[in-house]
Amino acid sequence: MKIDILTLFPDMFAPLYQSIIGRATSSGIAEINTVDIRKYTLDKHGKCDDVPYGGGAGMVMTPQPIVDCVNAVDPESKARRIYMSPKGKMLSVPLAKELAKEDNLLILCGHYEGVDQRALDICGFEEISIGDYVLTGGELAAMVTVDALLRFVPGVLGSEESAFDESFSDNMLEYPQYTRPFEFMGREVPDVLISGHHAKIDEWRREQAKALTEARRPDLMKK
Ligand code: SAM
Repeated sequence: MKIDILTLFPDMFAPLYQSIIGRATSSGIAEINTVDIRKYTLDKHGKCDDVPYGGGAGMVMTPQPIVDCVNAVDPESKARRIYMSPKGKMLSVPLAKELAKEDNLLILCGHYEGVDQRALDICGFEEISIGDYVLTGGELAAMVTVDALLRFVPGVLGSEESAFDESFSDNMLEYPQYTRPFEFMGREVPDVLISGHHAKIDEWRREQAKALTEARRPDLMKK
């Protein structure tokens, strides 16, 4: 899978080269390229933003560097083109799984007040949001999206790390987890977990997950 991330701030992406996602890129399962939009501006001062037509606060990213950058990175329009945006469709497990099946993704990170609408229309971007709040830029949103979707790409998680028995699978939150030591600061691990009785452990986990989901996310239970 190839993921191109178009940004004015390529230095922000160090987290994608660490831990599990870093392992996926260094092993070649996923290729992630950060592309500096500023390299494509025709403005002699390197400008990539301007004041909004109609007035208002802040700056808007200009269309020319974005369209030229997209055309250079994806000349044959092979990639699914995503603009990280608070106005977009909400990222979810089903959407992350869907994106994980793509061979090519091109992700545009906005900044300032956002992006000139014409760049989005000309390049055919779909918009994806990571939540009902506003970030200063799309870079963190792109990293969240890439992390969430790569977990569903075969080979990214080791056999000991499954993406299919976690919070939001089956519309449930996950049960509580425990590890060694058995007793910590006077608190012991629930007896059932050391019983060796797998059916009972599964039942306990299901009950815990159900109680937690009912208490914290009744909206998920309804689904
Ligand atoms: N003026 C825009 C609005 O009100 O919808 C917000 C612009 S925001 C300050 C700058 C950039 O951050 C956006 O262009 C987008 O790329 C990114 N961004 C902000 N919040 C986001 C979110 N919840 N999900 C995805 N991207 C987000």
